[in-house]
Amino acid sequence: MNPPSKDRLEKMWKFVKGFAEKSGTTFHPTPAVTEAVVNGLAAHIEELGKPLCPCNFYKDKQAEAKLRRWICACDEMQIYKYCHCLLFVREDGLPITEYLPEDHEGRQVYGLVTDPTPDKGRALRHKAVGQVPSHASPDQTAAAPSQTPKS
Ligand code: SF4
Repeated sequence: MNPPSKDRLEKMWKFVKGFAEKSGTTFHPTPAVTEAVVNGLAAHIEELGKPLCPCNFYKDKQAEAKLRRWICACDEMQIYKYCHCLLFVREDGLPITEYLPEDHEGRQVYGLVTDPTPDKGRALRHKAVGQVPSHASPDQTAAAPSQTPKS
């Protein structure tokens, strides 16, 4: 993955700041975490034309980008307000898990993490329960944030 251009990065930062505000979330208290995810998202725009989530492994990135489910802000964020990259979190750095199905890995890892701003975000909340692919599916493996606006 090539490093993103300055212009691409600036647009990505503008998008994530706007989305955090709109969804009632904040960035992780460790700036390096946020920077790594934003860099990864911007790099995916360079590579794929879309801010594909950088915290998953994909067998075929181009095919995955067309499905849109992991284009930031992804389905999990729009439905459950859960960001496994830890980009959009609470002020204490924990991802919101309150709306996830109880058997979701986010609930298993972090327990119940309540939403301090329930009046914000979750534009696709009507799709809750069983609509989001598991990270444990054969072609996707959750990974640490290593290295994202919809175009
Ligand atoms: S997990 Fe977070 S960073 Fe990744 S696509 Fe979803 S909202 Fe964006």
